Amino acid sequence: MIQRIAVLTSGGDAPGMNAAIRSVVRCGVAKGWKTFGVRNGFQGLINGTMEPLGTREVGGIMHRGGTVLGSARCDEFKTIEGRELAIRNLNQRGIDALVVIGGNGSQAGANALYEMGFPVVGIASTIDNDLVGSDITIGVDTALNIALEAIDRLKVTASSHQRAFIVEVMGRNCGYIALMSGLAGGAEAITLPEVKTDPEQLAKELHKAYEQGKAHAIIVAAEGAEYNASRLTEYFAENRERLGFSIRSTTLGHVQRGGAPGAYDRILASRLGHGAVEAIDREEFGVLVGLNGNNIITTPYKMIAGKVKTLDPKVIELTQILD
Ligand code: ATP
Repeated sequence: MIQRIAVLTSGGDAPGMNAAIRSVVRCGVAKGWKTFGVRNGFQGLINGTMEPLGTREVGGIMHRGGTVLGSARCDEFKTIEGRELAIRNLNQRGIDALVVIGGNGSQAGANALYEMGFPVVGIASTIDNDLVGSDITIGVDTALNIALEAIDRLKVTASSHQRAFIVEVMGRNCGYIALMSGLAGGAEAITLPEVKTDPEQLAKELHKAYEQGKAHAIIVAAEGAEYNASRLTEYFAENRERLGFSIRSTTLGHVQRGGAPGAYDRILASRLGHGAVEAIDREEFGVLVGLNGNNIITTPYKMIAGKVKTLDPKVIELTQILD
């Protein structure tokens, strides 16, 4: 019988994590369980920093970006000794199950804990959208909208000066945000980690657009692409006279992560939090809670371990038609 659960956020923060914490706590309380919040991800498990977190404590946090529990990257958790310490601390508090809100790395950590015998359920949350087991993860929609707003603004200034702007967006080794913000922002070109870029070809296309009198050009570059903003800037600097456009580069970086979560992420996070509590109630552990179509599903960790989500080739093709 479940009596006590704990929840933590891990890895890169994502807008909507707070809505997920709130949902886990309130759905847990509705089951009659005592709920705990762990500070700073897996580091907090190792340090034993967890406190009771009730319905009231998670009030007024849903609209805030980031995570009120704090997040951390923790190398010690990658060791067996570190995880043994974590399990000891969880047992000492009488925790029956743990909810891990985070991305790929965090779910690998959660799985490692589960394989050592501790009951764990994961919630898919990362702006990278690289997690297999969920069509989309918490934070992606908000991060995409922030990237899009920046692209729209850069387009305005680019048009006034007939410039080309390289906009670098986050996403680690996954090009999802670059692809989708490029599609929604009407980018002239997109560089992705998943697709090889021929810079010579790109320079030719830019020159053609310039010759045709295009007022601006936007190139969205994924941070994980071979031709990210700095490589592209370097290449274009060496080939400046052939481009026509003068080039400027902007790296959005963490700006993309800091926003208040939009409606989509708050709703998704609330539903995934509920899904995690339901999974715990069924005593279904070692699973990731995610979205499939419009349904909340669970996928066993062993089915997602080591896998990375791929981009839809049809969407890549579409961006090439529409640019
Ligand atoms: P994001 O991609 O959104 O930044 P993430 O969850 O993928 O989030 P990571 O930094 O990859 O972020 O992982 C977060 C933490 O998970 C790591 O600092 C580490 O403590 C733990 N972790 C990652 N991989 C493992 C593993 N194989 N075994 C145990 N723990 C792990």
